[in-house]
This record gives sequence, C-alpha cells and structure tokens, in this order.
Amino acid sequence: MAGEEGGSSGSSPAAEPSPGGGEAGAAGGEGAGGGGGAAYDGKCVFCRITHGEEAGTELLPCEHEDLVCFRDIRPGAPHHYLVVPKNHIGNCKTLKSEHIPLVERMMAVGKTVLQRNKFNDLNDIRYVSRKGSVW
Ligand SMILES: [Zn+2]
Repeated sequence: MAGEEGGSSGSSPAAEPSPGGGEAGAAGGEGAGGGGGAAYDGKCVFCRITHGEEAGTELLPCEHEDLVCFRDIRPGAPHHYLVVPKNHIGNCKTLKSEHIPLVERMMAVGKTVLQRNKFNDLNDIRYVSRKGSVW
C-alpha cells in the first residue's frame, strides 16, 4: 500500500471493525461468489455498481481507488451511503485479517462522505455490515 492513511485514528464512533464482520459487498445472494478470489461477480449488485453497470447509481468521489461510494438507492436514513471495495468479497466469512485495513478505510471513507455532506454528528453513524450494508 502506498501512501499514508489520512488521520482518522482516534475515536471510532459506533462500531468496531471486527474481523468477522465488515463486509459491504454481498447483496447478490448468499453463497454466490466464494469462488476464491473472484474480483468481479456479475450477480453481485455491488460489483455491477463499482463497474459502472448500474446506470441509476451515481458514484460519489472517493479518495481510494479500490473503493467506491454511492448513495443507497433506497435510503433508510437521510444520509445513507454505501462504501464497497471494487474487488468482490463474497461475504463477511471470507474476510480475513488482511482485510482489516480495507474495512478501516471503508469506514473512514464513509465518515468523509458524511462530513462532505454536512453531516457532522458522527455519534449517530451506524456501521452495518453483511448483506444490505449500511455504512
Ligand atoms: Zn461483489
């Protein structure tokens, strides 16, 4: 990894990025994927979004090339954004310790997006993982 992390190392608002649950990219159905390192799964809506194949989803600026951020198509909150890695990760069970930095970056990106949208109450952030992720 090149470059330095941007400084959000202090408080972590609502949830800890636990090794077992930080996935944000498995909507297509359980058991799909898991093919061992597939970076793209055409059945996975997040993969289609990250590849620009979901015309209705506008990708938001994201400072990490391996992540994408977008507004949820059915927002469950006034500010409901999703951050997903471009590389498909089947589900949280496939997450390994090597993914922890990725998950932490996803959370940092989510925070940045919220702040960019003038949403500064970081105590009210919910990080949800697994299917239907809310970050
Ligand atoms: Zn995917």
